[in-house]
Amino acid sequence: MFLENTFKSANQSGWIEVITGSMFSGKTEELIRRLRRAQIAKQKVAIFKPKLDTRYSEKEIVSHDANYIESVPVEKASEILDKGIESDVIGIDEAQFFDMDIVEVCNELANRGKRVIVAGLDMDYLGKPFGPMPYLMAIAEYVTKVHAICMRCGNLAHYSHRKSTSDSLIELGEKDKYEPLCRSCYLEALKEQNKDE
Ligand code: ZN
Repeated sequence: MFLENTFKSANQSGWIEVITGSMFSGKTEELIRRLRRAQIAKQKVAIFKPKLDTRYSEKEIVSHDANYIESVPVEKASEILDKGIESDVIGIDEAQFFDMDIVEVCNELANRGKRVIVAGLDMDYLGKPFGPMPYLMAIAEYVTKVHAICMRCGNLAHYSHRKSTSDSLIELGEKDKYEPLCRSCYLEALKEQNKDE
């Protein structure tokens, strides 16, 4: 388990933490856990997420287990710099959807003494690095990869597999569209899909 550094000297600089992994791996839960602990330590906390992520609620960070902390939806990464500067700890959820400016924004906040905690998907459903995430992982002091459980074999899951898109007219929830899979089950699933096409 990640244990944060709570000691803070007057001239201590900030740092960046990244929490990443597949869908249903508990990224947001881990982000919330860290932010809650900062709140208990009487630190000022701010949470941001991209505006497009409106799955459940406009204002709150919502994880799949319905834990939530109120968050601020922003359109551009640069808004976090202006709005976050008053806080000690800055949480950013669904970071994979932000523009590349998020990398510089996180650096700038850390340089100004902030603790920045970023959560986001490491890969898209094709298994490719997702948006700014590889850059954020590179510049972070601490990177935590969390894992879901493979829906087919029970091993640790590494991929977010998109199930074959049937022509269903019903709008399905996230849980019906994607499944976390381990490496070998993911490869197997891709083979099956290629056969169907
Ligand atoms: Zn598996």
